[in-house]
Amino acid sequence: MTGRSQFIMTPSGQETALGLSEFDKLKREVPVSGDAAKTAILQKVGRRIAEVSGMEEAQWEFVLFESPQANAFCLPGGKVEIYTGILPITRDEAGLATVIGHEVAHALARHGGERMSMAMGLQMLGSVGTVATAQSKYGPVFQQMYAPASQVAVALPHSRVQESSADEIGLILMAKAGYAPQSAVGFWQRFSEYNRTSGNQTPWFLRTHPLDEQRIAKIQSLLPKAQAEFRPATR
Ligand SMILES: [Zn+2]
Repeated sequence: MTGRSQFIMTPSGQETALGLSEFDKLKREVPVSGDAAKTAILQKVGRRIAEVSGMEEAQWEFVLFESPQANAFCLPGGKVEIYTGILPITRDEAGLATVIGHEVAHALARHGGERMSMAMGLQMLGSVGTVATAQSKYGPVFQQMYAPASQVAVALPHSRVQESSADEIGLILMAKAGYAPQSAVGFWQRFSEYNRTSGNQTPWFLRTHPLDEQRIAKIQSLLPKAQAEFRPATR
């Protein structure tokens, strides 16, 4: 949807299997919310986004987990998790559509597979590098450099390029699903404020999300394109 090309070496079936097992684990570990009204809103927004995603193979499931964390994700295979901690920030249906659109975009663009492939590539590079440099004076230096790089690749949920592409695809999905894409700006402003006040001390280069101001400016620049995709919801 953005024209960006990717390096992926994992078959999508493998990603789906991993997604399903993670989802089962999560359901055993985190309590599901008992709030019927909030759950109903999640189902409604989730269904609308899923319908316009074009992911015909996905087995959609939208689960509201009871957790103070302001978090949400979509596992490969169509399993979407929203934590109650993010609801004060999403505030309304359009805010929730921003988050679901963004998370579904990660799944749609197969960012999980891309991330795994990157980690696998780094691993191979690591073993090649170890052999090549073990006998040389650069051996110890290479070991030191290699370890942090591979940790970052695995530990970071998504790269900044992936985040930016999920923002773009997410805007289009929410517009197609009948939610005004402008609402995304308000959501990210509230989320940025939340990050600031909750004392997020993560160094900028390790943050999951692109710098807030850059992100919001980029989203604003994409609004005309997203607005052109807007279709009023019929139900
Ligand atoms: Zn993301």
